[in-house]
Amino acid sequence: MNRQLQPPAIEPAELVWHDGVPESKRFGDVYFSRDNGLEETRHVFLQHNQLPERFTQIPRGGSFAIAESGFGTGLNFLAAWQAWRHHAPTHAATLHFVSVERFPLTREDLTRALALWPELKVLADELLLHYPPLVRGVHRLVLDGGRVRLTLFFGDINDAWEALDFKADAWFLDGFAPARNPDMWLENTIRLVRAHSRPGTTLATFTSVGRIRRAFLEAGFHMEKTSGYGRKREMLKGVLEASARAEPEQSGSIAIIGAGIAGCTLARNLAERGLPVTLVDSHGPGNGASGNAQGALYVKLGVEFNDQTELALTALTFAQRFYNNWRNQYWHPTGLLQLAHSPQEEGRQAKFLDRNEYPGDILWPVNRDQASKLAGVPTQTGGLWFPGSGWLEPGNLCKALADHPLISTAFGATVSGLQPCNGQWHISMEDGSPIVADRVAICSGHLSPELIPAEGRFRLKAIRGQVSHLPAPAIISPKAVICGNRYLNPTLGEIAVTGATFDLRDNNPLPTIESHNENMQELGSMLPSLFSSTSEKPGGADLDGRVAFRCTTRDYQPVAGPVFDGESASLDGLFLFTGLGSKGLTYAPLLAEYLADQLTGQPACLPANLVRRLETQRLYQTHMAVS
Ligand code: SAM
Repeated sequence: MNRQLQPPAIEPAELVWHDGVPESKRFGDVYFSRDNGLEETRHVFLQHNQLPERFTQIPRGGSFAIAESGFGTGLNFLAAWQAWRHHAPTHAATLHFVSVERFPLTREDLTRALALWPELKVLADELLLHYPPLVRGVHRLVLDGGRVRLTLFFGDINDAWEALDFKADAWFLDGFAPARNPDMWLENTIRLVRAHSRPGTTLATFTSVGRIRRAFLEAGFHMEKTSGYGRKREMLKGVLEASARAEPEQSGSIAIIGAGIAGCTLARNLAERGLPVTLVDSHGPGNGASGNAQGALYVKLGVEFNDQTELALTALTFAQRFYNNWRNQYWHPTGLLQLAHSPQEEGRQAKFLDRNEYPGDILWPVNRDQASKLAGVPTQTGGLWFPGSGWLEPGNLCKALADHPLISTAFGATVSGLQPCNGQWHISMEDGSPIVADRVAICSGHLSPELIPAEGRFRLKAIRGQVSHLPAPAIISPKAVICGNRYLNPTLGEIAVTGATFDLRDNNPLPTIESHNENMQELGSMLPSLFSSTSEKPGGADLDGRVAFRCTTRDYQPVAGPVFDGESASLDGLFLFTGLGSKGLTYAPLLAEYLADQLTGQPACLPANLVRRLETQRLYQTHMAVS
């Protein structure tokens, strides 16, 4: 069956516990040694990859990548993370840990398994807090304030190593014993391990089976038998011959044009990885479409679990984890109700639920009574409840994101052009001298195409959206975000933001009474019991609001990646990140993470099937087909 059309939920591991140690029922093998799993991990994987010594040598802004086959209980991961804390330099540097798991442990089992290691408790608690829902695909977990990035592929090992773009510095080969778990030790798997290695990459495994040793030798690794841990007499370690070709390093200064949610998340991401960036904006952070007082963290998941749905889901769960850093500030995880507000939407939701099973930490269906209770406002229908969603203060969030010692800002300066010049980029400003950078990311919404010096024009649409500020006393304040043909947020101080209009051929930047009336009418039909009986329902003329322009592509999918010209040659060092439509708050954190991976040459957080959906070429080609 096509991988994308499998349902999202993935089968969890079934454990049996013998003397407090977890074993896999399916494979009939232990996850780690009965003697002392943590000491075994340190001996086999940390010591024989010389990690403590190698960690000390990472430069500022640098990274080290470990890849592992079989995440299991995460013990190896936590042991590596602990070693990174002890041995890595204090300056900003990133430990990447890329792992795969076909049968992930449930959160309950993981909690029980990790409780065995009191000395890892602080790290285990953080892992458990971020542990993703059990859905197939790639989950990037940003831990320890960004010092550690875990890329967890839930699916089969061969799909993982085909789909992910990374180079490992060290491998932890930790499938169950080859006789019990042959899929982890196929020739193809070993070929892929080689493909993801660079000269000097090391590997370690508890097994000493001759067939495995020979296969790695053939793949170009220098292999050695060495003493195993405890009762295991032997194990294998290896190193890829240094004569293999080295990859060029990614480096150079970076400028970002546009300080909306895309530009701000990207700037912050790079800064936290230790890279200085310049953030340029004609106004300041969160001035355009990302500047509303409130915004919902919302996606509509497709009926089919195809690439588009997978991208939306990956973005949603990543964003929920990301914004938790801003809890009690600009992130309000109240939960979100997606109403079945029309017969069409009711039919769509019924089909969606019929075809998919989503874990309860992502969503569950609710009837009208449950919906009313959760929302705190009487609703006319049931719908879908997203317990981990909520609302943000996007304008304030953008300002906070841009505030970092490694982000220098050029605010209030308007960019008049962008030209390549001797391997660098010159950003000309309307007043003042140009900004020069090795690489530039354009995050300027619908204004982005004007900046791209390509012969063909990149096509992006600007769609006007007006929000209305409802006075708090006029409504029953919802307890959660409610979405239907409009969205409504719980009150923030004196107002609750609702919206937004979707005005295709209207470029009026000022709020209009007509648009307020439209918002009020739609909201009234979605939630007729919203308006409190004690105060008068406000009319369009009484309302304040705000207009902004969403930037969308023709396929309504975001765009993030290097820019290519018509001949597919890269406009070297130029990147585009926009087209987020009305879902910027949801997509920006994940796509910023992905672009930062690209800009730093670090392991990618997205699989190839999702990377393809984001490529910039499709905008160009669309335009060529039209013209
Ligand atoms: N490193 C783990 C730890 O620290 O707890 C222990 C790994 S355990 C020995 C091997 C893991 O490989 C199991 O969790 C198992 O479910 C997983 N596995 C087995 N076959 C797989 C496959 N074909 N693709 C991906 N993972 C697989």
